[in-house]
Amino acid sequence: MPIATVNPATGETLEEFTAQSPDEVDRRLAGAEEAFLALRRTTYETRAEWMRATADVLEHETDRVAATMTTEMGKTLVAAKAEVAKCVHGMRYYADNAERLLADEPYAHPDKVGATSAYVTYQPLGPILAVMPWNFPLWQVIRFAAPALMVGNSGLLKHASNVPRTALYLDTLFTRGGFPEGSFATLLIGSSDVEQVLTDPRIKAATLTGSEPAGRSVAAVAGRHVKKTVLELGGSDPFVVMPSADLDQAAKVAVTARCQNNGQSCIAAKRFIVHEDCYDEFAERFVAAMAALKVGDPMDEDTDVGPLATESGRDDVEQLVADAVGKGAKVLCGGDTPDLPGWWYPPTVLAGITPSMRMYAEEVFGPVAGLYRVGSLAEAIELANVTSFGLGANAWTRDGDEQAAFVRDLEAGMVTINGMVTSYPELPFGGVKNSGYGRELGAPGPKEFCNAKTVWVG
Ligand code: NDP
Repeated sequence: MPIATVNPATGETLEEFTAQSPDEVDRRLAGAEEAFLALRRTTYETRAEWMRATADVLEHETDRVAATMTTEMGKTLVAAKAEVAKCVHGMRYYADNAERLLADEPYAHPDKVGATSAYVTYQPLGPILAVMPWNFPLWQVIRFAAPALMVGNSGLLKHASNVPRTALYLDTLFTRGGFPEGSFATLLIGSSDVEQVLTDPRIKAATLTGSEPAGRSVAAVAGRHVKKTVLELGGSDPFVVMPSADLDQAAKVAVTARCQNNGQSCIAAKRFIVHEDCYDEFAERFVAAMAALKVGDPMDEDTDVGPLATESGRDDVEQLVADAVGKGAKVLCGGDTPDLPGWWYPPTVLAGITPSMRMYAEEVFGPVAGLYRVGSLAEAIELANVTSFGLGANAWTRDGDEQAAFVRDLEAGMVTINGMVTSYPELPFGGVKNSGYGRELGAPGPKEFCNAKTVWVG
């Protein structure tokens, strides 16, 4: 994949970039190591000061950064500005809370292990490689970088090849906030160059957000070199609606849950599993609201859904729909690719999905919803768990017993009741099954790239 900025709304290539040379990559690796050696001796207070200053820089440049993201990957400008605000909030959250989250953990009974004191202290690991996707080109990076830098690690970013301008913005952002040179830098390289960087002894661990094949590949290389990885991969999140749900609210949230970010979110709800007692009422509301979304120029404030980020992504969505329709699925709205330059796909709802159709098991990374009818809670849970993914899950019910059953039985890293799965700096984020492992954010996130060092004092 060439490193280039291509406007998905028009298909026009705006700028092409040359990958950094091996010497330049080596210089950046050396810089990350040097920065780590300096960072690890700084205090939380100092790092928090730099992090707050970085958040201020970013906040001040919201309009510019948001426009860059919209131009490179097609999310609406409104969504891009919200993404910047979320990053600013996340940076301030970790500036304010990292020291508390990573405080030493004393063992209450040191005498039982023959010590006068015993505790766990969390120390940074070193330079961490972050392989990141284009769908939330700022937030996916910041949610790794803010906690990692607050811990005292340094970071090297290999961003997706279709968001180089955002990647280069991130290259200097943290140093502009005061972090030492090399604390966080971008490697402008292709995915085939990742292995060499990952195996470099200066890199201590890696995090990847993206597709399952990319995750498997990076984890395999890291495993051979005994380096830890955190993986946030795809998802095909269920959105279960039971008869006691507030159907107006559920249908409204369902539309956002499916079409946020033009349908390209790992935690977007993708499979809408509705109890037969409320199926018709829910379907009517949901399909009407999906069909009413305004598709158009992502720069316009009243646009709900912009183009898909890449031509291949649009083709994948088209093929998944064609496969389902060819095998008998019913199109309730959308389903036709408009004949326009750029990579457009309309909000689409399909019913009658069967196990023989690809989208029964595969993730659809675009604004296409599969609507399923079930006869019981048990059937809903069974269908929700049928895919190999286990990222998030949404369930709508006002019945306490049903809520408890969903929390207990849904195979997912995150379960949201009467709402939609969202990431918050304050709460852990991550999946089970083929959606990956490890956690970002919350309290566990910053600890993933720490040495939890046990200290025993006699
Ligand atoms: P990829 O997984 O291909 O890309 C994500 C990142 O991984 C990019 O930086 C990419 O670099 C890099 N990468 C890809 N393959 C390798 C590899 N073998 N070794 C090292 N790095 C690699 O995502 P796509 O853009 O192809 O999206 C396809 C699917 O991925 C989507 O349909 C969705 O299922 C999933 N996805 C999930 C996301 C999430 O938030 N969990 C986000 C984006 C996608 P490069 O761009 O240079 O190829």
